[in-house]
Amino acid sequence: MIRKTVRRIMQEKVAPRAAEIDQKAELPMDVFDLFKANDIFSLVAAQEYGGFDGKLLTLCLAIEEISRVCASSSMVLGNQSLGSAPIALWGNEAQKAKYLPGIATSEIKASFALTEPNAGSDVGGMQTRAVFKDNRFVINGNKCFITHADIADILTVFAKVEVNGQDKITAFLVDGKAKGVTVGKKEDKMGLRGSSTCSISFEDVEVPESSIVGKIGDGYRIALDCLDKGRIMCGSQSVGLAQGALEAAASYAKTRVQFGKPISENQGIQFILADMATEIELARTMVRAAAWKYDNHEPDMMKFSAMSKLFATDMVMRATTNAVQILGGYGYCKDYPVERMMRDAKIFAIFEGSNQIQRLVIARSLLK
Ligand SMILES: Cc1cc2nc3c(=O)[nH]c(=O)nc-3n(C[C@H](O)[C@H](O)[C@H](O)COP(=O)(O)OP(=O)(O)OC[C@H]3O[C@@H](n4cnc5c(N)ncnc54)[C@H](O)[C@@H]3O)c2cc1C
Repeated sequence: MIRKTVRRIMQEKVAPRAAEIDQKAELPMDVFDLFKANDIFSLVAAQEYGGFDGKLLTLCLAIEEISRVCASSSMVLGNQSLGSAPIALWGNEAQKAKYLPGIATSEIKASFALTEPNAGSDVGGMQTRAVFKDNRFVINGNKCFITHADIADILTVFAKVEVNGQDKITAFLVDGKAKGVTVGKKEDKMGLRGSSTCSISFEDVEVPESSIVGKIGDGYRIALDCLDKGRIMCGSQSVGLAQGALEAAASYAKTRVQFGKPISENQGIQFILADMATEIELARTMVRAAAWKYDNHEPDMMKFSAMSKLFATDMVMRATTNAVQILGGYGYCKDYPVERMMRDAKIFAIFEGSNQIQRLVIARSLLK
């Protein structure tokens, strides 16, 4: 039912605009409105906070359908989920009650601020600091590549707090409009151009102790827990995008005539399509298994999250590249969606922990 609804609204309302969203490189606020009107943001929260069923598997079905049509639009829902994950997973009752109902309608937009110019894969290298002073924490530092930082009402900012000479990574909830918060450069990206990615700085930003998520020093664990979830969503985005590319390529192959017959009648083309479909189905199965394990707190969830992300995100690059190949020169041009899809695909192997980092996570779980 959810899949059908999301598929229908994506097909009717977003598909005609997907190329324009990419071309304009602006956040599609009409997609926010569309998702809000159709209650799609409710998929990011648990029922008691105004959400639907609170299941990652359900959310992943929707994300897959969105990404099939427009990967930039999948960030609208995906980032609302990642942005709210620290609160949903580690927040106290007061924090959940304050933020989650608004997040489930998108009246509150949430972002996740972990990455820094000198700390990408190496989260522990972060330089943002929070110092306790006059009954408040004062945050100073710079984050980069933060999805939708330019519209965030609330950000989870990860910063180091010194306790007895030791640095403890800690998660703080920071109002996007707080004094000292400045949104900087918006990146001019290869793909996902309809999703904003910005640097954001914190200069003497004061927050109360009650803005800490979990406890001082829980930040690293919180970040990893959120990324376990984010990686599975990233897998769904990849499966959806690859499915969209497959459909575009198959449909083109049936109508493009060369040597007196549709190119789809060549076994060489059929085999490419067959391999694409097989890999997509395999990735879909892995991602859904990982989401199920996540929802059911299975002990090997982290490994499955990393494996499904690794396979699905490498797969989508192969699938979209093959789709461009099947469309030949037309595939290389913006008149057809596969050109955008191939550009959109690349990011999935980079963010939420690059695929090299996924291999480290998988290997660690095998060798511990
Ligand atoms: C569009 C976009 C949206 C993003 N959204 C967010 C967001 O909302 N919030 C947020 O906090 N961050 C976000 N990020 C940041 C993203 O998570 C990082 O870019 C990513 O974690 C990689 O960090 P890095 O770019 O600094 O690369 P680096 O860590 O510098 O890595 C560079 C290369 O080295 C490899 N590498 C690094 N360490 C190792 C190792 N030990 N072994 C083998 N290879 C290694 C990496 O795999 C990569 O190929 C976003 C990035 C982009 C581009």
